[in-house]
Amino acid sequence: MKPLKEARAEVLDAMRRLPTLTVAVDDALGMVVADDAVARGQLPPFDNSAVDGYALVASNVENPPVELAVNEDVAAGSVPTIAVRPGTATRIMTGAPMPDGADAVVRVEDTVAVTPDLVRIAASVQTGADIRPAGDDMVPGDVIVKKGVRLTSRHLGSLASAGIDPVVSTKPTVAIMSTGDEVVETGTEELEPGKIRDSNRVLLKGVLAELGVPVLDLGIIGDDVDELKTAYERAAAEADAIISTGGVSMGDYDFVKQVLGDLGNINLWKVAMQPGKPFAFGKINGVPLFGLPGNPVSTFVSFEQFVRPALLHMMGATKLFRPHVPATMGEDVHTNDAKTVFVRVLVASEQDGSLVALQAGGQGSNLQSTLANAEALAVVPVGTGSLSAGDAVTLEMYRWPEERSVDG
Ligand code: AMP
Ligand code: MG
Repeated sequence: MKPLKEARAEVLDAMRRLPTLTVAVDDALGMVVADDAVARGQLPPFDNSAVDGYALVASNVENPPVELAVNEDVAAGSVPTIAVRPGTATRIMTGAPMPDGADAVVRVEDTVAVTPDLVRIAASVQTGADIRPAGDDMVPGDVIVKKGVRLTSRHLGSLASAGIDPVVSTKPTVAIMSTGDEVVETGTEELEPGKIRDSNRVLLKGVLAELGVPVLDLGIIGDDVDELKTAYERAAAEADAIISTGGVSMGDYDFVKQVLGDLGNINLWKVAMQPGKPFAFGKINGVPLFGLPGNPVSTFVSFEQFVRPALLHMMGATKLFRPHVPATMGEDVHTNDAKTVFVRVLVASEQDGSLVALQAGGQGSNLQSTLANAEALAVVPVGTGSLSAGDAVTLEMYRWPEERSVDG
């Protein structure tokens, strides 16, 4: 058996980077930045007020209350026309440019408008109070988003404010197919004897949608050499990566390995992992092919361990892996010490904030309900064997348990 880390390193090594392009910031969600995004101007572009209030000279209001003549009103989007001199103030709204001469803003709550032209200031302020200085957020040359970062909505907001359309990597188009004569379309209501609904393809479409990459759905392919060959050839012609599920085990009808052998330089590995031992990897006409095992949980775990990091690597991402956090196992678990075992677990947090993991249900590779409910995979390394209640364990997080949210 091939150690998981070794297999993954080989996979990542075989990935080629996709070409880069400039996209509108509006279309960049989930894409990976290919060149540092650098601020050209300063933000905010001008000194402006952080509150609705009165711009004035702080030393004028050291001993409140003080009455000041109102120069003018400045709304956000307009510009002041009168400089603030001692004895005067300018009524200003949040985001409006600071008038010359003023060095602080008093909040409207601390003032009384005696007449439209006269304001009583009821509180003193520090010099600089409630002014947002130009360049506070960014100055020219600041790196807003580093190369290799996958863009979140928060990054997009920052880029948009700076007026930057980022340079990103192309998203890989991923061809997917399920294989197996027993597999029928997902929506099938009445199953014929011996048939099962396709769950792998819908799961893969979901995880690929979460990654934001386009999918070429090639459907269900029967256990038939010619049909498989045609599908793989089409996938290699039209996609940047290919995922098939099923047909990589040792059964008489596991034709995938035979077809792949004919088509390209594909290796069939026995990876020391569970779920997910059989795994075919290689290239058809330069396009990487991931032959995942058919059992749905094995499909998911293999996707997560190999395909997701590989696709992120193709996109030039710096971070390829899910967050790992330390936890304690809350019960005894027996595992195969020859493999890295991924145990589907539920996660609870103790009073002190530490995490405790309990099995989410049966751990068979076909048991999808356990996968659906699980919040994390406990990663049990080769050589561990069994875990006892209280043992330290590493969790690969997929969903933070609800009770960790602030609102409870
Ligand atoms: P295989 O890897 O083709 O030997 O399949 C292993 C197991 O996974 C068998 O029980 C298959 O019926 C099941 N399986 C294969 N493909 C799918 C699929 N697309 N959806 C659900 N189960 C599947
Ligand atoms: Mg099969």
